[in-house]
Amino acid sequence: MPIAIAIAVLAPSLPRADEPADFAACVADLRKEMGAKGVAAKTLDAAFESLEADPGVIERMEAQPEFEMPVWEYLARLVDDRRIDGGKVRLETWSPVLDRAEREYGVDRFTIVAVWGVESDYGRILGRRPLVRSLATLSCFGARQRYFRGELAAALQILQAGDMKTDALRGSWAGAFGHTQFMPSTFQRSAVDFDGDGRRDLVESIPDALGSVANYLKRAGWVSGQPWGYEVRLPDKYHGPSGRHARQPLAEWTKLGVARIDGKPLTGEGPAALLLPAGTRGAAFIVFRNFDAIHSYNASESYALAIAHLSDRLRGGGPIQHGWPTDDRILSRTERKALQEKLIERGFLAGEADGIVGSRTVAAVKAFQASMGLPADGYASARVLEALRGTPAAPRASD
Ligand code: CA
Repeated sequence: MPIAIAIAVLAPSLPRADEPADFAACVADLRKEMGAKGVAAKTLDAAFESLEADPGVIERMEAQPEFEMPVWEYLARLVDDRRIDGGKVRLETWSPVLDRAEREYGVDRFTIVAVWGVESDYGRILGRRPLVRSLATLSCFGARQRYFRGELAAALQILQAGDMKTDALRGSWAGAFGHTQFMPSTFQRSAVDFDGDGRRDLVESIPDALGSVANYLKRAGWVSGQPWGYEVRLPDKYHGPSGRHARQPLAEWTKLGVARIDGKPLTGEGPAALLLPAGTRGAAFIVFRNFDAIHSYNASESYALAIAHLSDRLRGGGPIQHGWPTDDRILSRTERKALQEKLIERGFLAGEADGIVGSRTVAAVKAFQASMGLPADGYASARVLEALRGTPAAPRASD
């Protein structure tokens, strides 16, 4: 799970870690809970010995970055020449393992290696924080203690089963670890022993990591032999639907004037969605079910697109052809809140402004754009905020 995404999820304001005594009491409580979940006393003794809260984890959890990276920057950073070349080297080095993964799970080698490249830069960035300490801290402080207690139990069960050793079980502050950056519960569901040594080890064993990625994607609904999607071009003044959940048959997209980027007709099987990561002025993609399998890996469209695009580049494909609307600034957190306040004020959005642009905010932006006769792409950028600020609010019935 990439750090930026975890921050977005954890954004609500959190209680602070005040006194160390609170943590000791919480750990005593965790012991009982983990024991009830089947973790043996011996495992708990070893894992919780002289355990202290990690202030660095609390700091990261509370961080609410003012600025986010636009999608084209994610893509430029995650799919650069170094990572493409690095992936090609790994395709060679691990060819026999990848052959076997393709046969056993039906997931192509380019996608497997692309996940590895985006998640941990082929094992270069694994995270160094002791996992039990991070997860115990997140189990005692912050807004998602219930979730992290489940992850802590899974981490302890991994140790208890002898899959990994305590010292090797290190990862990101939010608990993702190894070459695949799985959370412990994902490990429990999807990790496989692919080198046959009797242990599932996603830190020390690259075959285990590659087999586990393939198994994960298969379980997430990967359809063998199908593409994730491809770049398309939109007709001028496209006003039709978009978004990962607006799926329809390719024939419907064709009727709306969508074609492959080279102008050829759309091809592929099954319902498809039209992805506009930066609105109608940026690159556009038709995506199929396999894109959703990649997306489930870390629930971020930018990351999923980076993995998908890296897989194309490893396959020998070229760069994304259409440009990006770099003249239309993406919004800061403060501005995203202002955007939501305007949408609420004008009746397009209910609830409170939190600065997190989720599906409800996107739907509200689309409704506002449609009301103005603009392409309803839901892209919450500076232009939309200007349009919201520049037009008078409709008079209220009571005025
Ligand atoms: Ca193994």
